[in-house]
Amino acid sequence: MIVDLTGVLKEPGNRIPVDGVVTADDVNYLGEEFHIIEMPRFTGEISNNGKSLVLRGTVRLRFAVKCARCRKDIERDFEYELDETLVREKDNSDDNPDVFVFSGNEADITDIVLNGFFMNVPGKFLCREDCKGLCPECGADLNEGDCGCSDDMIDPRWEALKKIMDGKED
Ligand SMILES: [Zn+2]
Ligand SMILES: [Zn+2]
Repeated sequence: MIVDLTGVLKEPGNRIPVDGVVTADDVNYLGEEFHIIEMPRFTGEISNNGKSLVLRGTVRLRFAVKCARCRKDIERDFEYELDETLVREKDNSDDNPDVFVFSGNEADITDIVLNGFFMNVPGKFLCREDCKGLCPECGADLNEGDCGCSDDMIDPRWEALKKIMDGKED
């Protein structure tokens, strides 16, 4: 997504509205596959503070991902805020890694928008808060009822605790 910076670069204090859609590929992140349903749309502005340009606004998108517990496909609307600094390539003499560089009178903000996704997206999504997940024994979806596997199966996370309670921890 290319933004024409001519107007905002003219003098400090100038600002321009920015509204546009970024093309994003499906992405595998933190072990989850995010299938993009509605491309990320940025709505905000770029302002000139005299030293650099500041891009501020909101990104909204919609994606499909699997529930972290039961692996059912779910769709989620997701949004995050951006507040990033853009400097001219020649003005970034100290190679500051926290700013985005541009040259000439335009900037491609695609990477800024996509980077924001990785900074903000949580790794796990649930189909519902109280999703019961899959039976670790038989793999049945426990949201659809009891599968009949043994009731005294112990969640491995509790096993260590139980050992301590029993005084058997070595
Ligand atoms: Zn689920
Ligand atoms: Zn089961």
